[in-house]
Amino acid sequence: MLDGAAIASQIREELRSDVAAFTARAGRPPGLGIVLVGDDPASHLYVNAKIKSAAETGLHADCSQLPASASLPELLAVVERLNQSEVHDGILVQSPLPDSMGADAERRVFDVVRPDKDVDGFHPVNVGKLVQNRAPLVACTPSGVIEMLERSQIAIAGARAAVIGRSDIVGKPMALLLMHRNATVTICHSRTANLPRVTSQADILVTAMGRAGFVTPDFVKPGAAVVDVGTTQVTDRAVVERLFAPGSKRRDAFGRRGSLVVGDVHPDVANVAGALSPVPGGVGPLTIALLLRNTLRAAEERLAAR
Ligand code: NAP
Repeated sequence: MLDGAAIASQIREELRSDVAAFTARAGRPPGLGIVLVGDDPASHLYVNAKIKSAAETGLHADCSQLPASASLPELLAVVERLNQSEVHDGILVQSPLPDSMGADAERRVFDVVRPDKDVDGFHPVNVGKLVQNRAPLVACTPSGVIEMLERSQIAIAGARAAVIGRSDIVGKPMALLLMHRNATVTICHSRTANLPRVTSQADILVTAMGRAGFVTPDFVKPGAAVVDVGTTQVTDRAVVERLFAPGSKRRDAFGRRGSLVVGDVHPDVANVAGALSPVPGGVGPLTIALLLRNTLRAAEERLAAR
């Protein structure tokens, strides 16, 4: 089992001295401005975790909150204020945005964040630079997966890799990062024919679908490294019973809480994989650590550009 929390704490530890050095030079800590729209409890939890983790690492993070009824222009105005701010080096707009903002709201936001403050790495300029392997700021979750593989001594160069999922925020940047490290990458999606046959050739399999327990042992080459990025909040008892044995810790947790966060990878994959990054406890903590690293990088670049 790959331990994302341990690797994340190692990265935060490494960051601490660089953050302190920046703070001494600049006379203020690196600053992250988070924007949160609406009352989604999971989003509030994620934002609180980011603020707490930033504070523990010596960065400043604050949250601008808007009601669920806010309009897209109101949100863009907050982003514009953070674009102009002297003390915010990074900007993160927490997803999901309310449906009422329209289907292309997230993309409109990504387009408006200043590229040098785009710590999510979603601005088209940074995505274009990622394609050319020269991006200063790269999406945090895929970067976290790379950190996990590299720090676990899993060879990427020369490996066959498969990524299930082709979203702009996980699947595509993930595939690019693996390719830039000399893996031979196959990108899979909902229209991929005979998915298990494709994925079971991979030495490294990254799943980013959001389908609870979809990836069963037949998807996996024996000994492969499997990184589960997917997260699904399950409230259906039948799904939990399909995935977890009676008396298991996870089934008991569901019994107590009535819901469970589950990855794309079926627990039985642990019997086949050589290494497995689980949900929870895998990529999630790394995403936050990489967000802090991106904020420090953005702060250093801005200071150097003065
Ligand atoms: P998304 O935009 O919904 O993309 C899902 C991808 O999975 C799509 O490319 C889709 O294919 C593919 N897919 C869906 N069902 C499939 C199937 N049956 N067979 C093969 N491919 C299938 O989601 P996302 O934003 O990339 O996020 C993916 C997952 O990662 C979600 O569960 C999300 O919660 C999680 N996530 C976790 C973290 C973290 O741990 N820190 C961060 C970000 C995201 P099509 O393109 O053909 O529709």
